[in-house]
Amino acid sequence: MKNCYIHIPFCNHICSYCDFCKMFYNKKIVNNYLDHLEKEIKSIYKNEILDTIYIGGGTPTCLSIKELDKLFSVINKLNMNKDIEYTIECNFDSITEEKLKLFKKYGVNRLSFGLESTIKSNLDILDRNINKSKVIDNIKLCRKLGFNNINIDLMYAIAGEDIKDLEKDLDFILSLDVEHISTYSLIIEKHTKLYINNTKYISEDLDYDMYKLICKKLANYNHYEISNFAKDGYYSRHNMCYWNNKNYYGFGLGASSYILNKRINNTRSINKYLEDNYILDYENLDISDIMDYEMILGLRLVSGVNKKLFYYKYKKDIYEVFNIKELIDKDLLIDNGENIYIPLDKLYISNEILINFIKE
Ligand code: SF4
Repeated sequence: MKNCYIHIPFCNHICSYCDFCKMFYNKKIVNNYLDHLEKEIKSIYKNEILDTIYIGGGTPTCLSIKELDKLFSVINKLNMNKDIEYTIECNFDSITEEKLKLFKKYGVNRLSFGLESTIKSNLDILDRNINKSKVIDNIKLCRKLGFNNINIDLMYAIAGEDIKDLEKDLDFILSLDVEHISTYSLIIEKHTKLYINNTKYISEDLDYDMYKLICKKLANYNHYEISNFAKDGYYSRHNMCYWNNKNYYGFGLGASSYILNKRINNTRSINKYLEDNYILDYENLDISDIMDYEMILGLRLVSGVNKKLFYYKYKKDIYEVFNIKELIDKDLLIDNGENIYIPLDKLYISNEILINFIKE
């Protein structure tokens, strides 16, 4: 196991679309949570040298300096490769120079900011706030402190949004000149405020036009995954581990792990977690499930699935396992001799292609 996700479920504010495992920040719970997180890690971690660590949430940066220091002291006990990619998710409202300096001190070298949008009507729907000049100042500060690997999340396809709004958001993000941009078409999940308010999706045609605009405007970035764009050398190594179907630890409330042939889901109940009942359920995977994941995840990458690597891992020819000939004949997949991949102009309908690899 070389990759590790750590979940910090606290937020100062709850966004209308949020389906993540989160709760309002509560000082008393945070301290206790960090103690149990340490216990969970100690009980499962096998001391491997880690290539990536990703601290996500929630909003990890809503923790105080003292709490962050405690979190990093726990993580610091993990064995880290000297070339580790060490990411923390940040919020522009709760980041400070002191916190950034603390990240540096502990070796964090990648920052991932949730911006989502700068358009007032979008932010009103998402229940979020963004102050553009604060964003610019924060990015400058990160640069000054030596962070040279920054991601920004963009959300689009928000009710009432038009193509010009999206263009403004993209222009703003491009002006920040960050190394990585992740884009998300809004999904209205059950139990969210948006769902309860019966918020409507934008039309499929507009959603498609928006996706095309994103690809066009971000043409100077490498479009390496359906929704992810990076400058040379700045692909998210942590996320690549998911798409390459590699094993990873997931520690913390609601986190998931993929260890050997098991997908393990942690509880989303804070009470259970604080009683050290970390695991909610798990699924044992057989070799055919694992090969399905290899395709479903790998085909999200623009480069697709490498045929030799597939054979090396499973001792089977990819054509023997999957009926992909038909998809190739329909130009929904391409075989360039080395890799099987979804052509760029079909990435937008990737879900319809990937469904062929999902068992009934
Ligand atoms: S979207 Fe992020 S900041 Fe908003 S409530 Fe969810 S986890 Fe918290």
